[in-house]
Amino acid sequence: MNAPHKSDLLTDAYGRTIKSLRISVTDRCNLNCIYCHNEGSKGTAGEMSVGTISNIVATAVDFGVSRLKISGGEPLLRKDMEDILVSLPPLKDVSMTTNGVLLRERALSLKNAGLGRVNISLDSLNEANYQYITKCRNGVFEKVIEGIRAAVDVGLTPVKLNMVLLKDINESEIEDMLSFVREFQGKVILQLIQLMDFRDVDSYHVDVDEIEKELELKAGCVQVRELHHRKKYLIDGAEVELVKPVDNTEFCANCNRLRVTADGKLRPCLLVNDDLVDVSNAPVKDMPSLFRLAVSRRVPYYREQKEI
Ligand code: SAM
Repeated sequence: MNAPHKSDLLTDAYGRTIKSLRISVTDRCNLNCIYCHNEGSKGTAGEMSVGTISNIVATAVDFGVSRLKISGGEPLLRKDMEDILVSLPPLKDVSMTTNGVLLRERALSLKNAGLGRVNISLDSLNEANYQYITKCRNGVFEKVIEGIRAAVDVGLTPVKLNMVLLKDINESEIEDMLSFVREFQGKVILQLIQLMDFRDVDSYHVDVDEIEKELELKAGCVQVRELHHRKKYLIDGAEVELVKPVDNTEFCANCNRLRVTADGKLRPCLLVNDDLVDVSNAPVKDMPSLFRLAVSRRVPYYREQKEI
């Protein structure tokens, strides 16, 4: 891969260069989490073909994008997920966020098709709690745990466990989650996520600043990631990442991600709905200008207000 010329990078009016693409491949899901944002979609969209997905990713790669996150809905509901992976151009990092329910059976075929690593949603290690959050039936929690083990076994690592912090539901489980992560000796990372308001979730909000303070006190080492300036903590051998998007100007100022909806629209920001750019039926030759249009519409959702 030759590095693109600087003028061929996608940089928005706020100086943020796009380095990663987050593409939803379906709006369908086999869970019904009480807080889910469904990547901003109302859940009625169609799905892109393998060819369309591949063309969109290839266009992004031509602009220097090197990281891809596949999302949904639940991406593993697509039976052609492996075909999608095989069709992709070379990338530095190809990851998928999944609820893990269908992962055990497909971990190896996904790895062989080119998937690098997975994020797995696991909001609780308590089965009753898990069922309450995801509205799933008996046996599903076990499948997710098996999915995590399978992902580690086939090397879809580091596996990140996504835990959305929910008041009075799972906020007291962080220590248990850290112990679980330690079992995997560095191959599993805990990702604590601040709840974003997409449904009627007011009563579930946790004081994330308090949790951040506790992590800082316990951590032997704190690092800052380039993406969103997310903080990473090392606590007695367990790695924890904190994702704190709400009211966070630093998070938005360091957002280098462009999103794609399941029906093929470029989405400049998860929190904005009227700036989408449709590329689903665009000829490949028109895609670069549509990417530029979407990037020109990017505005940090939370930003410092300049005094006039
Ligand atoms: N079904 C897949 C999964 O479970 O990873 C992919 C889609 S799901 C929308 C992707 C991630 O979004 C989940 O891991 C969850 O942690 C996060 N998420 C969903 N709704 C959220 C919300 N309201 N606030 C914060 N994170 C949320």
